Amino acid sequence: MTIHCNYIGGEWREGQGTIANINPSDTNDRIGEYAEASPAQLDEAVAAARQAFPAWSRSGIQSRSELLDRIGQMILDRRAQLGELLAREEGKTLPEATGEVVRAGQIFRFFSGEILQLRGELQPSVRPGLEVSVTREALGVIGLITPWNFPIAIPAWKIAPALAYGNCVVFKPAELVPGSAHALAQIIAEAGVPDGVFNLVMGPGRVIGDALVNHPQVDAISFTGSQNTGRRIAAVAAARLAKVQLEMGGKNPLVVLDDADLDTAVECAVNGAFFSTGQRCTASSRLIVTSGIHDRFVEAVCERMKALVTDHALKAGTHIGPVVDERQLKQDLDYIDIGRGEGATLVCGGERVERETPGFYLTPALFTGTEPQMRINREEIFGPVATVIRADDYEQALALANDTEFGLSAGIVTRSLKHASHFKANAQAGMVMVNVPTAGVDYHVPFGGRKGSSYGAREQGSYAREFYTTVKTAYTLA
Ligand code: NDP
Repeated sequence: MTIHCNYIGGEWREGQGTIANINPSDTNDRIGEYAEASPAQLDEAVAAARQAFPAWSRSGIQSRSELLDRIGQMILDRRAQLGELLAREEGKTLPEATGEVVRAGQIFRFFSGEILQLRGELQPSVRPGLEVSVTREALGVIGLITPWNFPIAIPAWKIAPALAYGNCVVFKPAELVPGSAHALAQIIAEAGVPDGVFNLVMGPGRVIGDALVNHPQVDAISFTGSQNTGRRIAAVAAARLAKVQLEMGGKNPLVVLDDADLDTAVECAVNGAFFSTGQRCTASSRLIVTSGIHDRFVEAVCERMKALVTDHALKAGTHIGPVVDERQLKQDLDYIDIGRGEGATLVCGGERVERETPGFYLTPALFTGTEPQMRINREEIFGPVATVIRADDYEQALALANDTEFGLSAGIVTRSLKHASHFKANAQAGMVMVNVPTAGVDYHVPFGGRKGSSYGAREQGSYAREFYTTVKTAYTLA
Protein backbone atom coordinates (compact mmCIF):
# COMPACT_ATOMS: atom_id res chain seq x y z
CA MET A 1 0.00 0.00 0.00
CA THR A 2 1.40 3.40 -0.98
CA ILE A 3 1.23 6.03 1.72
CA HIS A 4 1.14 9.61 0.51
CA CYS A 5 3.54 11.34 2.85
CA ASN A 6 3.80 14.71 4.53
CA TYR A 7 6.44 17.11 3.24
CA ILE A 8 8.64 18.40 6.05
CA GLY A 9 11.95 20.20 5.68
CA GLY A 10 12.30 18.98 2.09
CA GLU A 11 11.64 15.30 2.92
CA TRP A 12 8.60 13.07 2.34
CA ARG A 13 7.76 11.61 5.74
CA GLU A 14 5.34 8.97 6.93
CA GLY A 15 3.27 9.92 9.96
CA GLN A 16 1.87 8.42 13.14
CA GLY A 17 -1.06 6.90 11.25
CA THR A 18 -2.95 7.19 7.98
CA ILE A 19 -6.01 9.02 6.71
CA ALA A 20 -8.20 7.19 4.16
CA ASN A 21 -9.40 9.33 1.26
CA ILE A 22 -12.86 8.09 0.18
CA ASN A 23 -14.76 9.04 -2.98
CA PRO A 24 -18.17 10.53 -2.05
CA SER A 25 -19.57 9.44 -5.45
CA ASP A 26 -18.62 5.84 -4.71
CA THR A 27 -17.69 4.90 -1.18
CA ASN A 28 -16.16 1.65 -2.47
CA ASP A 29 -13.50 3.75 -4.21
CA ARG A 30 -10.65 4.29 -1.77
CA ILE A 31 -8.52 6.96 -3.42
CA GLY A 32 -5.49 6.46 -1.22
CA GLU A 33 -3.92 6.52 2.20
CA TYR A 34 -2.40 9.75 3.46
CA ALA A 35 0.06 10.11 6.31
CA GLU A 36 -1.26 11.72 9.48
CA ALA A 37 1.43 13.98 10.93
CA SER A 38 2.22 13.71 14.63
CA PRO A 39 2.42 16.83 16.81
CA ALA A 40 6.20 16.30 16.95
CA GLN A 41 6.33 16.39 13.14
CA LEU A 42 4.35 19.62 13.17
CA ASP A 43 7.07 21.05 15.44
CA GLU A 44 9.70 19.84 12.95
CA ALA A 45 7.85 21.49 10.06
CA VAL A 46 7.68 24.80 11.91
CA ALA A 47 11.36 24.55 12.86
CA ALA A 48 12.30 23.81 9.24
CA ALA A 49 10.28 26.81 8.06
CA ARG A 50 11.87 29.02 10.70
CA GLN A 51 15.35 27.92 9.65
CA ALA A 52 14.61 28.48 5.95
CA PHE A 53 13.09 31.93 6.46
CA PRO A 54 16.17 34.22 6.54
CA ALA A 55 17.55 32.95 3.22
CA TRP A 56 14.14 32.70 1.53
CA SER A 57 13.02 36.17 2.54
CA ARG A 58 16.26 37.57 1.08
CA SER A 59 16.24 35.32 -2.00
CA GLY A 60 15.12 38.04 -4.38
CA ILE A 61 11.98 38.50 -6.41
CA GLN A 62 13.34 37.07 -9.67
CA SER A 63 13.85 33.55 -8.35
CA ARG A 64 10.58 33.59 -6.41
CA SER A 65 8.70 34.83 -9.45
CA GLU A 66 10.22 32.04 -11.57
CA LEU A 67 9.35 29.38 -9.00
CA LEU A 68 5.71 30.49 -8.86
CA ASP A 69 5.52 30.60 -12.63
CA ARG A 70 6.85 27.02 -12.85
CA ILE A 71 4.35 25.83 -10.23
CA GLY A 72 1.47 27.55 -12.06
CA GLN A 73 2.48 26.05 -15.39
CA MET A 74 2.86 22.55 -13.92
CA ILE A 75 -0.63 22.78 -12.41
CA LEU A 76 -2.05 23.85 -15.77
CA ASP A 77 -0.16 21.08 -17.62
CA ARG A 78 -1.62 18.48 -15.22
CA ARG A 79 -5.14 19.90 -15.19
CA ALA A 80 -6.77 16.72 -16.47
CA GLN A 81 -5.25 14.43 -13.86
CA LEU A 82 -5.60 16.95 -11.01
CA GLY A 83 -9.20 17.69 -12.02
CA GLU A 84 -10.07 14.01 -11.92
CA LEU A 85 -8.46 13.58 -8.50
CA LEU A 86 -10.31 16.63 -7.17
CA ALA A 87 -13.70 15.48 -8.53
CA ARG A 88 -13.05 12.04 -7.07
CA GLU A 89 -12.21 13.21 -3.57
CA GLU A 90 -14.52 16.21 -3.18
CA GLY A 91 -17.45 15.27 -5.41
CA LYS A 92 -17.82 18.36 -7.59
CA THR A 93 -18.33 17.52 -11.27
CA LEU A 94 -15.32 16.97 -13.51
CA PRO A 95 -15.78 20.29 -15.42
CA GLU A 96 -16.12 22.16 -12.11
CA ALA A 97 -13.09 20.39 -10.68
CA THR A 98 -10.97 21.02 -13.78
CA GLY A 99 -12.02 24.66 -13.68
CA GLU A 100 -10.86 24.87 -10.08
CA VAL A 101 -7.48 23.38 -11.00
CA VAL A 102 -7.07 25.93 -13.79
CA ARG A 103 -7.91 28.65 -11.30
CA ALA A 104 -5.15 27.39 -8.99
CA GLY A 105 -2.65 27.55 -11.86
CA GLN A 106 -3.76 31.07 -12.77
CA ILE A 107 -3.34 32.21 -9.16
CA PHE A 108 0.29 31.03 -9.01
CA ARG A 109 1.00 32.77 -12.29
CA PHE A 110 -0.71 35.94 -11.10
CA PHE A 111 1.52 36.13 -8.00
CA SER A 112 4.54 35.30 -10.14
CA GLY A 113 3.92 38.67 -11.84
CA GLU A 114 2.53 40.43 -8.79
CA ILE A 115 5.73 40.08 -6.78
CA LEU A 116 7.54 42.04 -9.49
CA GLN A 117 5.14 44.93 -8.81
CA LEU A 118 5.97 45.32 -5.12
CA ARG A 119 6.50 48.98 -4.39
CA GLY A 120 7.60 51.09 -1.48
CA GLU A 121 7.25 54.80 -0.83
CA LEU A 122 9.85 57.50 -0.43
CA GLN A 123 8.71 60.80 1.01
CA PRO A 124 10.10 63.92 2.61
CA SER A 125 10.11 64.05 6.38
CA VAL A 126 8.33 66.81 8.30
CA ARG A 127 11.74 67.35 9.89
CA PRO A 128 14.22 69.13 7.61
CA GLY A 129 17.11 67.01 6.36
CA LEU A 130 15.41 63.67 6.87
CA GLU A 131 14.03 61.26 4.30
CA VAL A 132 11.34 58.67 5.08
CA SER A 133 10.85 55.37 3.28
CA VAL A 134 8.02 52.89 3.72
CA THR A 135 8.72 49.34 2.55
CA ARG A 136 7.11 45.95 2.87
CA GLU A 137 8.83 42.88 4.28
CA ALA A 138 7.94 39.22 4.67
CA LEU A 139 6.21 38.29 7.93
CA GLY A 140 7.96 35.02 8.72
CA VAL A 141 6.41 31.56 9.14
CA ILE A 142 2.77 31.39 8.14
CA GLY A 143 0.32 28.62 9.07
CA LEU A 144 -2.32 27.96 6.41
CA ILE A 145 -5.50 26.04 7.28
CA THR A 146 -8.00 25.25 4.51
CA PRO A 147 -11.48 23.70 4.18
CA TRP A 148 -12.62 20.77 2.05
CA ASN A 149 -14.82 22.54 -0.49
CA PHE A 150 -12.10 24.03 -2.73
CA PRO A 151 -9.24 21.58 -2.16
CA ILE A 152 -6.77 23.20 -4.58
CA ALA A 153 -7.94 26.78 -5.26
CA ILE A 154 -8.06 27.92 -1.62
CA PRO A 155 -4.63 26.41 -0.82
CA ALA A 156 -3.32 28.11 -3.99
CA TRP A 157 -4.64 31.53 -3.04
CA LYS A 158 -2.90 31.30 0.32
CA ILE A 159 0.35 29.51 -0.62
CA ALA A 160 1.13 31.61 -3.72
CA PRO A 161 1.12 35.05 -2.03
CA ALA A 162 2.77 33.66 1.11
CA LEU A 163 5.74 32.36 -0.91
CA ALA A 164 5.79 35.29 -3.33
CA TYR A 165 6.33 37.84 -0.55
CA GLY A 166 9.13 35.77 0.98
CA ASN A 167 7.37 33.89 3.78
CA CYS A 168 7.78 30.23 4.71
CA VAL A 169 4.69 28.04 4.90
CA VAL A 170 3.29 25.23 7.01
CA PHE A 171 0.12 24.07 5.25
CA LYS A 172 -2.61 21.97 6.89
CA PRO A 173 -5.38 20.96 4.47
CA ALA A 174 -8.79 19.59 5.48
CA GLU A 175 -8.62 15.93 6.45
CA LEU A 176 -11.42 15.02 4.04
CA VAL A 177 -9.49 16.07 0.92
CA PRO A 178 -5.78 15.35 1.34
CA GLY A 179 -5.33 14.24 -2.30
CA SER A 180 -5.31 17.62 -4.04
CA ALA A 181 -3.20 19.13 -1.25
CA HIS A 182 -0.65 16.34 -1.57
CA ALA A 183 -0.56 16.63 -5.38
CA LEU A 184 -0.02 20.38 -5.05
CA ALA A 185 2.79 19.80 -2.55
CA GLN A 186 4.42 17.37 -5.00
CA ILE A 187 4.34 20.02 -7.71
CA ILE A 188 5.77 22.68 -5.40
CA ALA A 189 8.59 20.28 -4.42
CA GLU A 190 9.27 19.25 -8.03
CA ALA A 191 9.32 22.89 -9.09
CA GLY A 192 12.34 23.34 -6.82
CA VAL A 193 11.17 25.07 -3.67
CA PRO A 194 14.12 25.19 -1.22
CA ASP A 195 13.96 22.76 1.71
CA GLY A 196 11.85 24.02 4.61
CA VAL A 197 10.26 26.91 2.71
CA PHE A 198 7.07 24.94 2.09
CA ASN A 199 5.81 22.17 4.38
CA LEU A 200 2.70 19.97 4.21
CA VAL A 201 1.28 18.49 7.43
CA MET A 202 -1.90 16.47 7.08
CA GLY A 203 -4.04 15.54 10.05
CA PRO A 204 -7.15 16.44 12.02
CA GLY A 205 -7.86 20.10 12.69
CA ARG A 206 -8.46 19.61 16.40
CA VAL A 207 -4.93 18.17 16.75
CA ILE A 208 -2.60 19.39 14.00
CA GLY A 209 -4.58 22.54 13.16
CA ASP A 210 -4.82 23.46 16.82
CA ALA A 211 -1.09 22.85 17.39
CA LEU A 212 -0.26 25.05 14.37
CA VAL A 213 -2.43 27.90 15.62
CA ASN A 214 -0.92 27.67 19.11
CA HIS A 215 2.70 27.34 17.96
CA PRO A 216 4.79 30.24 19.30
CA GLN A 217 7.08 30.12 16.26
CA VAL A 218 4.23 30.67 13.78
CA ASP A 219 3.92 34.39 13.06
CA ALA A 220 0.56 34.42 11.30
CA ILE A 221 -2.42 32.20 10.50
CA SER A 222 -4.60 32.37 7.40
CA PHE A 223 -7.74 30.28 7.82
CA THR A 224 -10.76 29.47 5.68
CA GLY A 225 -13.54 27.36 7.14
CA SER A 226 -16.49 27.51 9.46
CA GLN A 227 -17.33 30.37 11.81
CA ASN A 228 -17.01 28.25 14.95
CA THR A 229 -13.48 27.17 14.14
CA GLY A 230 -12.61 30.69 12.97
CA ARG A 231 -13.70 32.25 16.26
CA ARG A 232 -11.58 29.80 18.23
CA ILE A 233 -8.53 30.46 16.05
CA ALA A 234 -8.93 34.25 16.32
CA ALA A 235 -9.07 34.01 20.14
CA VAL A 236 -5.90 31.90 20.30
CA ALA A 237 -4.07 34.11 17.81
CA ALA A 238 -5.07 37.29 19.67
CA ALA A 239 -3.89 35.85 22.98
CA ARG A 240 -0.40 35.31 21.59
CA LEU A 241 -0.50 38.42 19.34
CA ALA A 242 -0.15 36.52 16.06
CA LYS A 243 -1.53 38.06 12.88
CA VAL A 244 -4.70 36.32 11.73
CA GLN A 245 -6.98 36.33 8.70
CA LEU A 246 -10.29 34.41 8.61
CA GLU A 247 -12.64 33.67 5.73
CA MET A 248 -15.77 31.94 6.98
CA GLY A 249 -19.34 31.22 6.09
CA GLY A 250 -22.11 32.99 4.25
CA LYS A 251 -25.90 33.17 3.98
CA ASN A 252 -25.79 34.99 0.71
CA PRO A 253 -28.90 36.71 -0.67
CA LEU A 254 -29.88 36.90 -4.32
CA VAL A 255 -32.53 39.60 -4.82
CA VAL A 256 -34.81 39.17 -7.83
CA LEU A 257 -36.89 42.24 -8.72
CA ASP A 258 -40.08 42.39 -10.76
CA ASP A 259 -38.23 43.95 -13.70
CA ALA A 260 -35.61 41.14 -13.88
CA ASP A 261 -35.02 39.20 -17.05
CA LEU A 262 -36.53 35.85 -16.00
CA ASP A 263 -33.95 33.67 -17.75
CA THR A 264 -31.09 35.59 -16.15
CA ALA A 265 -32.76 35.35 -12.74
CA VAL A 266 -33.27 31.58 -13.06
CA GLU A 267 -29.72 31.03 -14.27
CA CYS A 268 -28.24 33.11 -11.44
CA ALA A 269 -30.36 31.32 -8.84
CA VAL A 270 -29.74 27.78 -10.07
CA ASN A 271 -26.04 28.27 -10.65
CA GLY A 272 -25.51 30.24 -7.44
CA ALA A 273 -27.55 27.97 -5.20
CA PHE A 274 -26.83 24.48 -6.50
CA PHE A 275 -23.69 24.23 -8.61
CA SER A 276 -20.76 22.63 -6.81
CA THR A 277 -23.56 20.93 -4.84
CA GLY A 278 -24.25 24.21 -3.03
CA GLN A 279 -21.01 23.73 -1.10
CA ARG A 280 -19.61 27.18 -1.77
CA CYS A 281 -19.26 29.89 0.85
CA THR A 282 -20.60 32.29 -1.80
CA ALA A 283 -23.65 30.13 -2.67
CA SER A 284 -27.01 31.93 -2.98
CA SER A 285 -28.88 30.34 -0.13
CA ARG A 286 -31.63 32.98 0.21
CA LEU A 287 -33.57 33.97 -2.92
CA ILE A 288 -35.41 37.19 -2.09
CA VAL A 289 -38.07 37.72 -4.73
CA THR A 290 -40.54 40.57 -5.18
CA SER A 291 -44.21 39.66 -5.47
CA GLY A 292 -44.76 40.57 -9.15
CA ILE A 293 -42.28 37.95 -10.42
CA HIS A 294 -42.42 35.51 -7.48
CA ASP A 295 -44.70 32.81 -8.91
CA ARG A 296 -43.21 32.85 -12.43
CA PHE A 297 -39.71 32.72 -10.95
CA VAL A 298 -40.45 29.79 -8.61
CA GLU A 299 -42.11 27.84 -11.41
CA ALA A 300 -39.21 28.43 -13.82
CA VAL A 301 -36.58 27.57 -11.18
CA CYS A 302 -38.39 24.30 -10.38
CA GLU A 303 -38.54 23.41 -14.07
CA ARG A 304 -34.82 24.04 -14.41
CA MET A 305 -34.07 22.07 -11.23
CA LYS A 306 -35.96 19.03 -12.52
CA ALA A 307 -33.61 18.97 -15.52
CA LEU A 308 -30.51 18.85 -13.30
CA VAL A 309 -28.83 15.44 -13.15
CA THR A 310 -27.50 14.48 -9.71
CA ASP A 311 -25.00 11.67 -10.15
CA HIS A 312 -21.38 10.48 -9.99
CA ALA A 313 -19.01 13.45 -10.26
CA LEU A 314 -16.99 11.84 -13.05
CA LYS A 315 -19.97 10.83 -15.18
CA ALA A 316 -20.54 12.90 -18.33
CA GLY A 317 -23.83 14.75 -18.08
CA THR A 318 -23.82 15.11 -14.29
CA HIS A 319 -24.75 18.63 -13.16
CA ILE A 320 -24.74 18.07 -9.40
CA GLY A 321 -22.21 15.77 -7.75
CA PRO A 322 -22.69 14.13 -4.36
CA VAL A 323 -22.50 15.87 -1.00
CA VAL A 324 -18.96 15.59 0.37
CA ASP A 325 -19.59 13.03 3.14
CA GLU A 326 -22.14 11.36 5.40
CA ARG A 327 -21.87 14.04 8.09
CA GLN A 328 -22.56 16.91 5.68
CA LEU A 329 -25.41 14.92 4.07
CA LYS A 330 -26.99 14.43 7.49
CA GLN A 331 -26.65 18.17 8.16
CA ASP A 332 -28.38 18.98 4.85
CA LEU A 333 -31.21 16.48 5.50
CA ASP A 334 -31.61 17.75 9.07
CA TYR A 335 -32.05 21.30 7.76
CA ILE A 336 -34.61 20.06 5.23
CA ASP A 337 -36.56 18.55 8.15
CA ILE A 338 -36.11 21.74 10.17
CA GLY A 339 -37.46 23.81 7.24
CA ARG A 340 -40.53 21.58 6.96
CA GLY A 341 -41.02 21.74 10.72
CA GLU A 342 -40.84 25.54 10.62
CA GLY A 343 -43.70 25.59 8.13
CA ALA A 344 -41.78 26.22 4.89
CA THR A 345 -42.94 24.40 1.73
CA LEU A 346 -40.45 22.10 0.01
CA VAL A 347 -41.48 22.64 -3.62
CA CYS A 348 -38.70 20.75 -5.31
CA GLY A 349 -36.01 18.14 -4.57
CA GLY A 350 -34.43 17.56 -1.17
CA GLU A 351 -34.41 13.77 -1.47
CA ARG A 352 -31.60 11.37 -0.81
CA VAL A 353 -31.33 9.26 -3.96
CA GLU A 354 -29.53 6.05 -4.97
CA ARG A 355 -27.28 5.82 -7.99
CA GLU A 356 -25.25 2.99 -9.58
CA THR A 357 -22.50 3.49 -7.03
CA PRO A 358 -22.99 4.01 -3.28
CA GLY A 359 -22.59 7.75 -2.59
CA PHE A 360 -24.05 10.76 -0.81
CA TYR A 361 -26.57 11.89 -3.41
CA LEU A 362 -29.07 14.61 -2.58
CA THR A 363 -31.30 16.32 -5.15
CA PRO A 364 -31.21 20.14 -4.94
CA ALA A 365 -33.92 21.45 -2.64
CA LEU A 366 -36.03 24.62 -2.88
CA PHE A 367 -38.23 25.96 -0.08
CA THR A 368 -40.92 28.60 -0.61
CA GLY A 369 -43.15 30.41 1.86
CA THR A 370 -40.23 30.99 4.17
CA GLU A 371 -39.94 33.69 6.82
CA PRO A 372 -36.74 35.60 7.59
CA GLN A 373 -36.57 34.34 11.19
CA MET A 374 -36.63 30.65 10.24
CA ARG A 375 -33.42 28.76 10.99
CA ILE A 376 -33.14 27.79 7.31
CA ASN A 377 -32.84 31.51 6.57
CA ARG A 378 -30.39 32.30 9.33
CA GLU A 379 -27.92 29.41 9.61
CA GLU A 380 -25.45 28.29 6.98
CA ILE A 381 -26.55 24.90 5.62
CA PHE A 382 -23.65 24.44 3.16
CA GLY A 383 -25.50 22.11 0.83
CA PRO A 384 -27.80 22.23 -2.23
CA VAL A 385 -30.64 23.82 -0.28
CA ALA A 386 -32.10 27.27 -1.07
CA THR A 387 -35.04 29.23 0.27
CA VAL A 388 -37.35 31.77 -1.33
CA ILE A 389 -38.40 34.80 0.72
CA ARG A 390 -41.16 36.96 -0.72
CA ALA A 391 -40.68 40.76 -0.61
CA ASP A 392 -43.14 43.57 -1.38
CA ASP A 393 -40.65 45.86 -3.10
CA TYR A 394 -36.97 46.73 -3.57
CA GLU A 395 -36.66 48.49 -0.20
CA GLN A 396 -37.97 45.48 1.70
CA ALA A 397 -35.82 43.13 -0.39
CA LEU A 398 -32.68 45.12 0.46
CA ALA A 399 -33.56 45.10 4.17
CA LEU A 400 -34.08 41.32 4.04
CA ALA A 401 -30.81 40.83 2.16
CA ASN A 402 -28.94 42.67 4.93
CA ASP A 403 -30.82 40.93 7.74
CA THR A 404 -28.12 38.35 8.45
CA GLU A 405 -25.06 37.97 10.62
CA PHE A 406 -23.05 37.15 7.50
CA GLY A 407 -21.81 39.48 4.74
CA LEU A 408 -19.80 37.64 2.12
CA SER A 409 -21.57 37.98 -1.24
CA ALA A 410 -24.90 39.56 -2.26
CA GLY A 411 -26.56 39.59 -5.68
CA ILE A 412 -29.38 41.36 -7.48
CA VAL A 413 -31.13 40.62 -10.76
CA THR A 414 -32.79 43.70 -12.21
CA ARG A 415 -32.98 45.83 -15.34
CA SER A 416 -33.06 49.00 -13.24
CA LEU A 417 -29.79 50.91 -13.14
CA LYS A 418 -31.14 52.89 -10.18
CA HIS A 419 -31.78 49.78 -8.09
CA ALA A 420 -28.56 48.07 -9.19
CA SER A 421 -26.53 51.14 -8.20
CA HIS A 422 -28.34 51.51 -4.91
CA PHE A 423 -27.83 47.82 -4.12
CA LYS A 424 -24.11 48.00 -4.92
CA ALA A 425 -23.79 50.89 -2.47
CA ASN A 426 -26.01 49.51 0.28
CA ALA A 427 -25.67 45.73 0.35
CA GLN A 428 -23.72 44.82 3.50
CA ALA A 429 -21.39 42.37 1.81
CA GLY A 430 -17.76 42.25 0.74
CA MET A 431 -18.74 41.27 -2.81
CA VAL A 432 -21.79 42.42 -4.77
CA MET A 433 -23.05 40.89 -8.01
CA VAL A 434 -25.42 42.49 -10.50
CA ASN A 435 -27.12 40.08 -12.93
CA VAL A 436 -24.50 37.40 -12.23
CA PRO A 437 -24.55 34.59 -9.65
CA THR A 438 -23.34 35.32 -6.10
CA ALA A 439 -20.69 32.62 -6.56
CA GLY A 440 -17.93 32.83 -9.18
CA VAL A 441 -15.20 35.43 -8.76
CA ASP A 442 -12.05 36.68 -10.47
CA TYR A 443 -8.61 35.91 -9.06
CA HIS A 444 -6.96 39.32 -9.52
CA VAL A 445 -9.26 41.34 -7.23
CA PRO A 446 -9.96 41.13 -3.48
CA PHE A 447 -12.06 38.30 -2.11
CA GLY A 448 -13.75 38.46 1.28
CA GLY A 449 -16.68 39.62 3.31
CA ARG A 450 -17.98 41.70 6.18
CA LYS A 451 -19.74 41.05 9.49
CA GLY A 452 -19.49 37.40 10.54
CA SER A 453 -18.06 36.19 7.23
CA SER A 454 -14.52 37.53 7.39
CA TYR A 455 -12.00 38.90 9.82
CA GLY A 456 -8.71 40.59 9.03
CA ALA A 457 -7.19 41.57 5.71
CA ARG A 458 -8.72 40.60 2.36
CA GLU A 459 -7.37 37.71 0.29
CA GLN A 460 -6.37 37.58 -3.40
CA GLY A 461 -5.20 40.08 -5.97
CA SER A 462 -2.87 42.90 -4.95
CA TYR A 463 -4.72 43.15 -1.63
CA ALA A 464 -3.12 39.88 -0.50
CA ARG A 465 0.03 41.84 0.38
CA GLU A 466 -1.79 43.44 3.33
CA PHE A 467 -1.75 40.11 5.11
CA TYR A 468 1.42 38.52 3.79
CA THR A 469 3.75 41.46 4.40
CA THR A 470 4.54 43.81 7.23
CA VAL A 471 5.37 47.48 6.77
CA LYS A 472 8.64 49.14 7.77
CA THR A 473 9.09 52.90 8.06
CA ALA A 474 12.74 54.03 7.91
CA TYR A 475 14.18 57.52 8.59
CA THR A 476 17.51 58.57 7.09
CA LEU A 477 19.46 61.72 7.71
CA ALA A 478 20.13 62.88 4.18
P1 NDP B 1 -14.05 23.69 9.43
O1 NDP B 1 -14.00 24.97 10.15
O2 NDP B 1 -14.56 22.51 10.15
O3 NDP B 1 -12.59 23.27 8.94
C1 NDP B 1 -11.76 24.14 8.24
C2 NDP B 1 -10.33 23.76 8.50
O4 NDP B 1 -10.02 23.99 9.86
C3 NDP B 1 -10.04 22.28 8.26
O5 NDP B 1 -8.72 22.14 7.75
C4 NDP B 1 -10.13 21.70 9.65
O6 NDP B 1 -9.40 20.50 9.80
C5 NDP B 1 -9.51 22.81 10.45
N1 NDP B 1 -9.85 22.79 11.87
C6 NDP B 1 -10.91 22.22 12.47
N2 NDP B 1 -10.85 22.43 13.81
C7 NDP B 1 -9.73 23.14 14.05
C8 NDP B 1 -9.12 23.67 15.22
N3 NDP B 1 -9.67 23.50 16.44
N4 NDP B 1 -7.97 24.37 15.10
C9 NDP B 1 -7.41 24.57 13.90
N5 NDP B 1 -7.93 24.07 12.75
C10 NDP B 1 -9.08 23.38 12.81
O7 NDP B 1 -14.81 23.95 8.08
P2 NDP B 1 -15.11 22.89 6.91
O8 NDP B 1 -13.88 22.22 6.43
O9 NDP B 1 -16.24 22.06 7.37
O10 NDP B 1 -15.53 23.86 5.71
C11 NDP B 1 -16.81 24.32 5.53
C12 NDP B 1 -16.93 25.74 6.05
O11 NDP B 1 -15.98 26.59 5.43
C13 NDP B 1 -18.26 26.35 5.71
O12 NDP B 1 -18.80 26.97 6.85
C14 NDP B 1 -17.97 27.38 4.64
O13 NDP B 1 -18.81 28.45 4.55
C15 NDP B 1 -16.60 27.80 5.00
N6 NDP B 1 -15.90 28.30 3.82
C16 NDP B 1 -15.65 29.65 3.72
C17 NDP B 1 -15.03 30.18 2.63
C18 NDP B 1 -14.71 31.64 2.56
O14 NDP B 1 -13.76 32.02 1.91
N7 NDP B 1 -15.45 32.51 3.21
C19 NDP B 1 -14.62 29.35 1.51
C20 NDP B 1 -14.89 27.96 1.70
C21 NDP B 1 -15.51 27.47 2.83
P3 NDP B 1 -10.06 19.05 9.51
O15 NDP B 1 -11.19 19.24 8.60
O16 NDP B 1 -8.95 18.30 8.90
O17 NDP B 1 -10.46 18.51 10.82
